[in-house]
This record gives sequence, C-alpha cells and structure tokens, in this order.
Amino acid sequence: MTIPFNKPFLTGKETRYIEDAVNSGKISGNGKYTELCHRFFKEDFGFEKSLLTTSCTDALEMSSILINIEPGDEVIIPSYTFVSTANAFVLRGAKVVFADSMDVNPNIDASKIESLITNKTRAIVVVHYAGVSCDMDEIMRIASKYNLYVIEDAAQAIDSFFVGENGLKKRLGSIGHLSAFSFHETKNIIAGEGGLLVINDQVFSDRAEIIWEKGTNRSAFFRGSVDKYGWVDIGSSFLPSDIIAAFLYAQLEQLELIQSIRKDNWGVYLDNLKVLEDKSYVKLPVVPSYASNNAHMFYLRCNDLNERSKLIDFLKNKGINAVFHYLSLHKSPYFFDKYDGLDLPNSDMYSDCLLRLPMYKTLKKEEVGFICESIKQFYL
Ligand SMILES: *Cc1c(COP(=O)(O)O)cnc(C)c1O
Repeated sequence: MTIPFNKPFLTGKETRYIEDAVNSGKISGNGKYTELCHRFFKEDFGFEKSLLTTSCTDALEMSSILINIEPGDEVIIPSYTFVSTANAFVLRGAKVVFADSMDVNPNIDASKIESLITNKTRAIVVVHYAGVSCDMDEIMRIASKYNLYVIEDAAQAIDSFFVGENGLKKRLGSIGHLSAFSFHETKNIIAGEGGLLVINDQVFSDRAEIIWEKGTNRSAFFRGSVDKYGWVDIGSSFLPSDIIAAFLYAQLEQLELIQSIRKDNWGVYLDNLKVLEDKSYVKLPVVPSYASNNAHMFYLRCNDLNERSKLIDFLKNKGINAVFHYLSLHKSPYFFDKYDGLDLPNSDMYSDCLLRLPMYKTLKKEEVGFICESIKQFYL
C-alpha cells in the first residue's frame, strides 16, 4: 500500500464544464464560467468584489500593485510561509520585515508586530496557516492605529472563519483590505493552478479590474461604461482562461461535500493521535477559540529535526508519504544576507519540527487509521 501526501479530487463535472466552455467558442478570460465563479463568491461567500486569477501568487502581486508599494516601503510578513507571500512585495521593491510565529500554532504572533513597525511600514500580510485564522481583531487594531493595510494570504483558508470579540463570525478573506486564495491542486478546492483576489475595500475595485486586464479598461468597456478601451495603468495578464474557471466552478459546487469528508478525516486523526499528545510524545494542531478548522491540513509537531527525519523515513517504509513544510524565509538562500532582524525561534522550530500527514478528499478512514497506528508504533 502506498498513501500519497496529496491526491487531487475530481467531482466528475470538471470536463463537462470545460467541454461546454470550449463549445461556446469563448475560452479566453472573463467568460461565462468566470462570471459564474464570481457570482458564487458574491452570493455564497458574501465577497462584494472578487477576481479570479491564475494563482494566489498573482492575487498577491495584484495586492502589492494596488496598495502602491514602492521601493523602500516596508511590509511585515511571517517568516514561516510560502515564498509568494514575500515575493509579491519584493518584486515592487519593498523591504520585507519578517515576523515570528506564535508558539501555539504557526500563525504570525500579533503581539510581536507592533515592535516591527517603523514610519516606512505600509502593510501587514497575514497567512492563515492550515486554514486556521490569525488573531484578526488584534491585527486589525494595530493596522488601524498605524494606518496600515492588511492583506490576508488566505491561500489555505477557503471555508474557514474568524469569530471576533463582538461574537460576529467572519469568513477568512473578508477581513483585510485585500485577500488572496489559491486553487492550486494541493488546496481543498482546486483548478490545477488558480487563485482569487478578494477586494474588501471598494476603493480598489475599479483599479483592480484594470490591473487584472493588462492595465487596460477593457472590463469597463465590455460593461458599456466607457466607449473605447486603452492603456490606462500598469497591469499584467492576471486573469485565467475560462477553461480554468469551468474546472473551478465544478469544484465550488461540491464545496460542502469536499469539506465534510476532509473534516471527518481530520477528526479521525485527532482522536487516534490524542494519546501521543497526552503522553507528551508530539503536539497536535491547536485551533484557538476565535478560529475554525477547514481541514486543509493535519500536522504533528515533533520534538526536533532528527526525530522528524526518522519518523518521515519510518513512515516512508510503510508506504506513507508525510512531508515537512516551509523553511524560515529569513534563512533562505535568497534572503539570508539581507536579513538584519531578530531571531525568529518559533518559525525555526516549525521549520524543523512540523510534519504534515496525508490529507485529501478520497483518503479512506482505514488509511487514516493505518497512518495513526504507524505513528504510534514509532513512538510507543
Ligand atoms: C499555496 C500557497 C500560496 C501559493 O498559491 P499559488 O496559487 O500556487 O500561487 C501562497 N501562500 C500560501 C500560504 C500557500 O499555501
């Protein structure tokens, strides 16, 4: 038996919708299925304005352009994240200021943000790791005190929520000024490669459409609100083909089913591995009371790098593919000699100790059981 780390799930309607898009004769961007996806996010998610992109990376790059990042501006970003979170701002000349994770989970430690703010700081970028919300009340409070933008890297955070001190439940991706989702094949809802920019502050709406359409006012032209279109701003080809949107729409229709099965498997992991946590062999994921769990990922915290490497090998011998995750960006080959900040011990700890277990829609309960038994065998 081999159990991969990830297996892309198909609902069965993807190719039907792609065929429909192809037969319609219009397969470039912003067609019928793009429209259907935008409507889904508006009606089902309450996102007033959103734009499909070819990746979350692109949505983050659009955010960086939209808030007018210029050389010398500073942006606060967690070190424990994917390169795109930082690259989007580095590409515009920003100085990235890396922040540490919390001890309780890999999200940015809100209590450490204020000490990183200078008069050049423009934005705080948060990453809802494993789809678990950052402390958004605190982060929005800091941002408003210093007049900073908040951008949510919600790549992993579809169908997850934050409950504020006022008791209101908000969808992740709806809280910052701008947010970016990913539909890469490793996420809960997929399109191969794909993403979404969510515009929560409507001052960005019109310009977002222009940047999305290569710096032209083509979208406004097709809506009939201008009588010719041309080059009006900087931009790029951020919009995906309608073939991608057709694939994505088939996935969005099955969101509830996909989520309920992932959550069941997540629960089986938790129940089975609890004993290892009780005996202090490993730590299991912590979802704070203000956050929800969208079962994007199930991970363990081993005690050190050596133990994690041995566990990976042990599981590999049983056909189970468990994988580590990010390496602290402040220690990356690209950034190493640029980093002039403080030690970020929690980010380094997650780089060394976090291990992700297989998680996908078609993973069977018996397979989860086998994975858990194998991990117990390693420790007990
Ligand atoms: C997956 C991921 C990205 C990149 O998403 P793409 O759609 O592949 O560009 C960015 N940030 C985080 C936190 C991710 O998990």
